Amino acid sequence: MDEDALEYHRTAPPGKIEISTTKPTNTQRDLSLAYSPGVAAPCREIDADAGEAYQYTTKGNLVGVVSNGSAVLGLGDIGAQASKPVMEGKGVLFKRFADIDVFDIELDLDDPDAFVNSVAAMEPTFGGINLEDIAAPDCFTIEEQLRERLSIPVFHDDQHGTAIISGAALLNAVEISGKNLEELEVTFAGAGAAALATARFYVSLGVKRENITMCDIDGVLTTQRAESGDLNEYNREFARDLPEGDLADAMEGADVFVGLSAGDIVSQEMVRSMAADPIIFAMANPDPEIDYESAKAARDDTVIMATGRSDYPNQVNNVLGFPFIFRGALDVRATEINEEMKVAAASALADLAKQDVPDSVVKAYGDQPLQFGPDYIIPKPLDARVLFEVAPAVAQAAIDSGAARVDIDIDEYVERLEA
Ligand code: NAP
Ligand code: MG
Repeated sequence: MDEDALEYHRTAPPGKIEISTTKPTNTQRDLSLAYSPGVAAPCREIDADAGEAYQYTTKGNLVGVVSNGSAVLGLGDIGAQASKPVMEGKGVLFKRFADIDVFDIELDLDDPDAFVNSVAAMEPTFGGINLEDIAAPDCFTIEEQLRERLSIPVFHDDQHGTAIISGAALLNAVEISGKNLEELEVTFAGAGAAALATARFYVSLGVKRENITMCDIDGVLTTQRAESGDLNEYNREFARDLPEGDLADAMEGADVFVGLSAGDIVSQEMVRSMAADPIIFAMANPDPEIDYESAKAARDDTVIMATGRSDYPNQVNNVLGFPFIFRGALDVRATEINEEMKVAAASALADLAKQDVPDSVVKAYGDQPLQFGPDYIIPKPLDARVLFEVAPAVAQAAIDSGAARVDIDIDEYVERLEA
């Protein structure tokens, strides 16, 4: 795999993306329109009304994928330069799944304020900003401040992508197991970027905050630990008034386990201690908190299992989210990606999983049966229908929640996407 990947990247031209022009450039006149003197006309229009940038430039289809390389995939803090293949790769996915263009921006900056100032200064270029692979807890402050300062969407995919896709899985898992969101006892392993955002999003979906127990490497986040100054301000948000305990204690009787921590930290014993028909989302990459076979084999009742892996059912893959969420947001010139838009994306994904799956999609996944049930609770990434379902749902939610700068007819929009 490594040699193939190096070859893939090295083949001329190096890297995976290039810029191409979209207008005629053959004649002197074409060039005079593209640049001086013709270009002055659109400049004047935009000078008079900044919103015209969506009409006369690439702004409305251009996303900045911005990182400082401080928490890259499973690689850790490898810095800005070494993160560039990942950011270019994110650009490939935006293009392949939603025809969105990306400038990847790798900033050699550790200081969060400097990072925020740099990204804020780039607002004129982009229709949206996808923050990527920035370490917690800086990622929280960076996103918060940029959301406040910019009037284009700012979305940290490592937080919200996982939250939204696993949120869709949760909606369907709860339905299949006959559980009730408001009564769900949910235990998290991990209290980092992905876990905190996911816990917050589950609250948006209807889970009771007081039913969430979160563990970091030292065990349950308790009010006692919060008071002793052991937890950062983001972890304190989920501290519970419980006795000190470890992950095994926290999993006893839980309906749902959400793992966004580290591989192989959950035993079959711990799975057996959970409530009837447990839901287990073991999403640590590349090795889940417990593997699919072990979790399934631990019990006689129905275990609904999701992981981050493509070789098992129910892969929680962020590519089911960000391309389509940005597509919908850009197409209504949204000022932000708000909670309503995220919930709409999760609901659209959950609903799509209940529809019959086209043969072409079944074939693409090796002819395994794909039918709504414990082993198929979220759509597959190569299912082209995801675009037609998620982008319009997000656009509609943007319109309804006041985040859209333009109103569009959603039926016409779906037709345009399908064309
Ligand atoms: P992060 O910000 O570094 O957070 C990791 C968290 O896990 C920290 O709170 C850490 O606790 C905790 N942790 C580590 N070892 C633990 C253990 N043995 N028991 C309990 N908690 C433990 O990382 P992240 O970005 O949130 O990602 C976390 C994991 O989720 C990674 O494996 C990542 O690959 C995976 N992930 C998967 C998906 C997906 O499937 N789509 C998406 C995003 C992330 P301390 O703070 O005490 O060290
Ligand atoms: Mg990432």
